[in-house]
Amino acid sequence: MNMMSLPRPVCPYCQAQMRRWPLGQPVLACDTCRRPILRYLARPRARIFRLRPVYTVIHAVALVILFAAVATVAFGGLETRHVILAIGIPIAMFGASDIADGWLSWRTGVDRGWRKLRTGRVARAIGVARTAFGVAGVAVAVIGLLAYGELRQPTRPAAPSLAQQSTR
Ligand SMILES: [Zn+2]
Repeated sequence: MNMMSLPRPVCPYCQAQMRRWPLGQPVLACDTCRRPILRYLARPRARIFRLRPVYTVIHAVALVILFAAVATVAFGGLETRHVILAIGIPIAMFGASDIADGWLSWRTGVDRGWRKLRTGRVARAIGVARTAFGVAGVAVAVIGLLAYGELRQPTRPAAPSLAQQSTR
């Protein structure tokens, strides 16, 4: 085992050198930007590993869910109230990862958006804005999911729900 000669990984978020990757650990936080970085086997046969910031992965997964939800809605395979759930969940995922990412931008002064890396005061300001945006997104999602919960109650005017429960 010639561990010392392994090159240190470069952070995909801030391009700084990370510490050596501990064996068998899928997630490691970068020391410079403090983002959790996910290491995954991109090509199992060639044993090629890729590194991705966890929040980028969450965004990608949320985007896939959102596209799937929109497609399902478009083909009419979804009840109206389920649309709220299908869109509320990815929005909550976007919001939550934006809160975490924005918070870290503010804390560390390192921010990446649309392939552009910013540092210092600008990054902190973007971080605060991103966190606020994330909070707004989560709030919208929570309100939507609460509305979904309300809609789950059967609303039949002929049979009041209280009377229905007492007969059971
Ligand atoms: Zn980094």
